[in-house]
Amino acid sequence: VSMWSQVEAAPKDPILGVSELFHADKDPSKMLLGTGAYRDDNGKPLVLECVRKAEKKLIEDAKNMEYLPTQGDNQYISRSLDLAYGKEIGNAEAIAGIQTLSGTGACRLFAEFIARFKKGAVCYVPDPTWSNHLNIFRDAGVETKAYRYYKADTRGLDFDGLKEDLGNAKEGDVVLLHACAHNPTGVDPSEEQWLEISKLFKDKNLFPFLDSAYQGFASGDCDKDAFALRMFKRDGHAMALAQSFAKNMGLYGHRVGTLSIVCASKEEATVVESQLKVIARAMYSSPPLQGANLVSTILGDEKLNALWLTEVKMMADRIIDMRAKLREALEKSGSTMGWKHVTDQIGMFCYSGLTPEQVDRLKDEHHIYMTRNGRISMAGVTSKTVEKLAQAMHAVTT
Ligand code: PMP
Repeated sequence: VSMWSQVEAAPKDPILGVSELFHADKDPSKMLLGTGAYRDDNGKPLVLECVRKAEKKLIEDAKNMEYLPTQGDNQYISRSLDLAYGKEIGNAEAIAGIQTLSGTGACRLFAEFIARFKKGAVCYVPDPTWSNHLNIFRDAGVETKAYRYYKADTRGLDFDGLKEDLGNAKEGDVVLLHACAHNPTGVDPSEEQWLEISKLFKDKNLFPFLDSAYQGFASGDCDKDAFALRMFKRDGHAMALAQSFAKNMGLYGHRVGTLSIVCASKEEATVVESQLKVIARAMYSSPPLQGANLVSTILGDEKLNALWLTEVKMMADRIIDMRAKLREALEKSGSTMGWKHVTDQIGMFCYSGLTPEQVDRLKDEHHIYMTRNGRISMAGVTSKTVEKLAQAMHAVTT
């Protein structure tokens, strides 16, 4: 028998599996609305101009290609934290920060940290959440529990359910929150609701872990999208934050992210950082260089930074525009189902309310691919395809 004969094939990833099916489809009009990756209005991947300019600058500067230290590039980390927490960051020295392999790596590093130093703590995750969150905590050996988040009948936030479930969490438990543009639902708490959530966390002594994968990409405004995380920081929580530059700078494949943990003092931050480095050292030793150089160059240069802000707004605006066009086309198609949620939700995804069976019919009869939870990646919709999408959605929902 072979060494691996007892290994069973793994189930397909619910998000990546959709791309595989799409690529096997020969229909020329096929549409991929699975993975959350931005496309321009011609359906093509986009490299931002600020990134192209930063690339040129890096070539001109002829930087070396030495290893980064285990914690990553310190200048990158500090600029990344400024972007998230704001310039008036307040006691920045008490924040442990480490460059990570994008947002996924930040989540994983934090999960490993909890597994080591907060044994027995449960991590509460919203129901539903980005499917990879569950894999990440499982593989790190951290138990997750779901808290109610989404209400199917209103296609909005289940605020009472959320408060009740988190009200039952134990002191010291960790709660994962999406900083903005909740994936997959596109449903975020209002500013008033965030304030109430923060108070609940204080009362119950819960630990907020914010996953910020879409800063600037949701509303087009980096400050607005940082509202929740800055509020938690201002309210004085011990907290952690995962940042990703995949979407907002279009650096998907470069794997640039940051994990930060807000500590009680500078000394504590130094200690925490030293342990994060121990975990990172054994997993990958040091993070990739080029992406961090690009981000640091853009954030550190006034002109490039200003250009980036216009470009991230341009991407957000295109998605907002596609939401409006999709809703309009659905309403014009004669569909009597309500489609207001298409424009109420924010960020890259529209949680359409389509059932798994309807999603299957979109694939089989219309060559339109999305995850079976009915999540549509709006970034994959263009002004040329939105009408076809609306017609097909109408066809499978009547
Ligand atoms: N968190 C959330 C909520 C996400 O939607 C994503 C991207 N789909 C990520 C983290 C991480 O993505 P990446 O590892 O590419 O930064």
